[in-house]
Amino acid sequence: MLQQTRVDTVVPYYERFLRRFPTVQSLAQCEEDELMKAWEGLGYYTRARRLREAAQKIVKNHQGRIPSTVQELLSLPGIGPYSAGAIASIAFGLDVPVLDGNVTRVLSRLYTVREDTNLARTRDRLEFLALELIPQGRAGLFNQALMDLGATVCIPGNPRCLVCSIRSHCAAFECGEQDRIPKKKERLPVPHYDVGLAVILRKDRVLITKRPPEGLLGGLWEFPGGKKKPGETMEACIAREMKEELGIEVKVKHPLTPVRHAYTHFKVTLYAFICTHTRGHPQPRTATEARWVPVDHLDALPFPKGSLKVLEVFRDSITNDVA
Ligand code: SF4
Repeated sequence: MLQQTRVDTVVPYYERFLRRFPTVQSLAQCEEDELMKAWEGLGYYTRARRLREAAQKIVKNHQGRIPSTVQELLSLPGIGPYSAGAIASIAFGLDVPVLDGNVTRVLSRLYTVREDTNLARTRDRLEFLALELIPQGRAGLFNQALMDLGATVCIPGNPRCLVCSIRSHCAAFECGEQDRIPKKKERLPVPHYDVGLAVILRKDRVLITKRPPEGLLGGLWEFPGGKKKPGETMEACIAREMKEELGIEVKVKHPLTPVRHAYTHFKVTLYAFICTHTRGHPQPRTATEARWVPVDHLDALPFPKGSLKVLEVFRDSITNDVA
């Protein structure tokens, strides 16, 4: 859960998730919509699916007990060198290093490692240095201490060297290069897309589609739609997308308030329109399923954050109409 996500965001999800899936077995057996609902809003949904696949493999191959060696941990879906090292050292007390972003920064400064820390050979070197430092039998505490030092003292930009407990050992501090190490990555500009969405109504039901299991927001439900092409009106974009993606015709009626949302690598403005269904049975081309769902049942299904914002605007519009 903590991959690319802040601790304070994760804590309520973590607690709810453990209440809902208290054992490896309960996670292994759960339905996909149930899993995605528990993860709804946390992003990077592939993590949830991999976690369930790992639970299924643990039940099948390890009698329901989480394996303790780095090699066995690495054979589980979703577990890479970082997670394997963290589990092996913190949960099972093995003397193995853990290189997350914080530890990488601390070690790079401690030993003035100036090379690009994304390169495999730099990471190998840092891992070797970390291994040399581990006090025998105490890797769990040591790794957590390095992570905490990186998160609170040896922070990116201007580290707080004056209150740092390992300052006297730090080569970067010694030569005054602490704010230049590790080398900063160049930031690419974040693209922005205008997306048209159809909130298609039929009596008290609305049409939603399910995204394919792999890829961005995999397995989540959403309002159908797509990116606007240059020169196209939003209404034309929605009508075209419905034809191309679902093989249906709709009457695009009136717009809802646009919603902005930022993903890690791009931003979108979602222009949702209330539509009515005029012709055709929905036959999804890229979505795995299309379903007419009663408006008051939408809460039971998992949606990505952007769609949840649209849902909220849609609900407000119904309430205002009724009022
Ligand atoms: Fe980081 Fe400064 Fe401590 Fe060195 S002295 S480890 S640069 S906080």
